Amino acid sequence: MPIQMTIIVLFGPPGAGKGTQASFLKERFGLVHISTGDVFRSNIKNETALGKLAQSFMDEGNLVPDQVTIDMLSAEVDKNHDANGFLFDGFPRTVAQAEALDVLLDNYQTNITAMVALEVPDQLLVERLLERGKTSGRPDDANTEIIQNRIKAYYTNTAILKSYYESQNKYFGVNGVGSINEITERLQELINSF
Ligand code: ADP
Repeated sequence: MPIQMTIIVLFGPPGAGKGTQASFLKERFGLVHISTGDVFRSNIKNETALGKLAQSFMDEGNLVPDQVTIDMLSAEVDKNHDANGFLFDGFPRTVAQAEALDVLLDNYQTNITAMVALEVPDQLLVERLLERGKTSGRPDDANTEIIQNRIKAYYTNTAILKSYYESQNKYFGVNGVGSINEITERLQELINSF
């Protein structure tokens, strides 16, 4: 892996728009996009052992255990060791995952460029997720209780990562309220400044 590469952690609560924005950003900046949620869902679809393990946690809106997630992510990074850069979406979600990511990148003699966070109020998150649930076919988007549980998991385990990256001067917040295009513009401008 080249030492000077762009490695972005796209961050924000469920429903903040990470997946939507990631699909634009990966093209625009030539990054390999790794969405842990997508990798888990494809394992569930293909009925792999990993999928079977992850499913019960995901259906309830709980986090998949750290070691399972970390091993999966490491394997995805290793598969793409020739990448120009990475866009991580949905990872890290706990301090243990952030520490494991630092170690993993350190082994490649590189590190995170920035955590880019989409900031969206909770009320809007629930609305967006219920709306997405009408067409996504995702069981975890189907009811308010599971959605609330995911937002709760975010505040309990994940929100703390803001200070983890702030202490390294790597946290950058972006207003995640607006049209998809407006938010893409804000993100592009920020990433261009790195
Ligand atoms: P959202 O951000 O809308 O919750 P994701 O597709 O990112 O959607 O994640 C869906 C589910 O996959 C999570 O609720 C969790 O169960 C599991 N998951 C995804 N990423 C991680 C992770 N880094 N650590 C633990 N569980 C994860």
